[in-house]
Amino acid sequence: MKALRAQVRDALRPGLRGSAFEGAGARYSWAFLDESAKREIRRRMLKAIAIPGCQVPFGSREMPIARGWGTGGLQLTLALIGPGDVLKVIDQGSDDSVNAVNIKKFVQRVTGVAVTTDTRRATLIQTRHRIPEERLDSGQVLIFQVPIPEPLRLVEPSERETRRMHAEADYSRMWLYLYEDIVRYGEITVGARYPVMVNGRYLMDPSPIPRWDLPRLDRAENLFLFCAGREKRIYAVPPHTAVEPLSFEDFAFRVEDFAGRRCRRCGSSASYLDEVLDDATGGRSWVCSDTSFCEKRRRGAGPAEGERPGGAA
Ligand SMILES: [Zn+2]
Repeated sequence: MKALRAQVRDALRPGLRGSAFEGAGARYSWAFLDESAKREIRRRMLKAIAIPGCQVPFGSREMPIARGWGTGGLQLTLALIGPGDVLKVIDQGSDDSVNAVNIKKFVQRVTGVAVTTDTRRATLIQTRHRIPEERLDSGQVLIFQVPIPEPLRLVEPSERETRRMHAEADYSRMWLYLYEDIVRYGEITVGARYPVMVNGRYLMDPSPIPRWDLPRLDRAENLFLFCAGREKRIYAVPPHTAVEPLSFEDFAFRVEDFAGRRCRRCGSSASYLDEVLDDATGGRSWVCSDTSFCEKRRRGAGPAEGERPGGAA
């Protein structure tokens, strides 16, 4: 293992010029990626921002973590981060999961930037499967790790065909899929990855965030960036952009229903809750999925209540 690490370090050395960064005893390019990679990724991001919701292909780099563990989000973070940034990384709402902790450690090692668990303090937030409960402002960027960027994959396996459907804004098969769902089950059964229409033009996969988080994408103050490392796609929702979950006139979109439930730790009745089973008693209880929000409230430093998203049942 040691030999392999030394080999990797040596392989990186010839590429070091000018912007070398010395962290934890080893020398890296600033933010790991070489400058041309960062430039390409930034250009793709700009294109994605210019065409909200449209998937832009990019040359996904090999990262020192396995694909499927957030290599897409990590590449955007590394291409954007500067010395003055403060980074927060969450996984399903938690700052302390193995994936989140290791991504944070890695970015810190190759940049030396400050990290935080406080949503309000962070300038860059990399996330897997959640949007923080506290409202983000125009100085913050939320970067999503995306497993499957194509919302039409549910109804069409061919990449060529899905590209045609996007080009022609032909989303009839998605509508039909949702309609059949209602006919069969009496409701739309899509939970996470609920398809949304961005800026009235592109159908977009919001990544597997719960429906609860979707209203927060709509006309937000901050920039949202999405990246799938394995599928090599970047897309974006710029500030003040309309994001609408697909719904029918007589069958409105609904978020998850937590009526009558509260977080057992902080008492919040307006945040997204995770169900917890007590092994000893077999009883069920609920806790906030956003651990930093919950912790803040317990310390008495947080918002008095969570901000219930629009469209709540
Ligand atoms: Zn709580």
